[in-house]
Amino acid sequence: MGDSRRITEMAEQLQEKLVENRRHLHSNPELFMELPMTVKFVQEKLAKLGIESQNVGGGVVANIGDPTKGKTILLRADMDALPIQEETGLPFSAQGKAMHACGHDVHTSLLLGAAEILKSMESEIPGNVKLMFQPGEEVLSGAKAMVGEGVLENPQVHGAMMIHVFSGLEIEAGKVLVPKEGAASMAPDEFHINIQGKGGHGAMPHTAVDPLNIAAHTHIALQEMISREIKPGEKALCVVGHMSGGDAGNVVPDKAKLIGVIRTMNPKTREFLKDRLVQISKGVASTFRGEAEVEYTIQCPSVINDPVMRQKGIDYAKELFGEESVLPLDGYMDDGMLSGSEDFSFISERVPSFMSIMSMGSTDDGYIYSHHHPKTDFDEKMFYRGAAYYAYYAIRWLQD
Ligand SMILES: [Zn+2]
Ligand SMILES: [Zn+2]
Repeated sequence: MGDSRRITEMAEQLQEKLVENRRHLHSNPELFMELPMTVKFVQEKLAKLGIESQNVGGGVVANIGDPTKGKTILLRADMDALPIQEETGLPFSAQGKAMHACGHDVHTSLLLGAAEILKSMESEIPGNVKLMFQPGEEVLSGAKAMVGEGVLENPQVHGAMMIHVFSGLEIEAGKVLVPKEGAASMAPDEFHINIQGKGGHGAMPHTAVDPLNIAAHTHIALQEMISREIKPGEKALCVVGHMSGGDAGNVVPDKAKLIGVIRTMNPKTREFLKDRLVQISKGVASTFRGEAEVEYTIQCPSVINDPVMRQKGIDYAKELFGEESVLPLDGYMDDGMLSGSEDFSFISERVPSFMSIMSMGSTDDGYIYSHHHPKTDFDEKMFYRGAAYYAYYAIRWLQD
């Protein structure tokens, strides 16, 4: 395996640069869909490598290779941070109210490293590699925006892969963890239930319609969906995280509100629960003489791991890093799927895709916080493996 040695060696030589770029990004986190400093940083780094790039849907897209020579594979990294105040105490900590607590600073740096490797081998690439740096993963909007602006066309994308780094697992850094095939992350749908009652004096409730009473009954009624309408053993959640309405103890308010998220792993169950939530909300409200409107504010499908793309991901990781470098996710996460979400799903619903996880911080080495924690940190010593894996996956897939 000539390419595996070569790519690993090139990645090892980039190790220092990977750390430096990651630290720069870590110190300068940006939130949501507009990441002007990060986008500029990525585009400047690509330009230095002689790689042209375009702005697409708030992110950056670049191509390496020649689409007339073969297929096009897309490699995805996300670039956005979280609205968390950092508490790591690292010398390159972020100072404001944003933090790279999900490792997207690492992903961006790793993909820039892969870009450098791929550019140096460009004439040998039997096809085209499209790099996608996206905003807004945490708000599940960035990939959708980039797909809407044509990231999968010109040249047309035939397959896609991504890496997400994880810290706080009992696994040595640098291992590739493989989620199951098919649905590999839950599909989250955020709902707002707006309840309309009729305000009035607390001493004359008969002249009013109490929206808080409706809200309370709705909350309880929603529990029935998971406990009585979903097959035992199937994973589905409906959690209300916000209930509000009213200001004073002697006033029946006019309105109340519930906000929550339905998470499912099966598209049929997803549609079923979304419909049932509307029926239950409206039904309970009308029973108590009020009205309810349901609005779905975030809707994101599951990431689908294509069986062939996934198997190749396993084979390539073994070629690169050895037999022991690959582990199924099952041992570490329920059913081998993420209970969280990942908006790479908007790519995976259109082209065969593979979502891989790379361990980047073992509890044995002191990386005890998992992502989204204000003290999350990632073990930098295996960064080269992430850059190598991105680059090698692309080259081998195009060869195959
Ligand atoms: Zn995250
Ligand atoms: Zn993330």
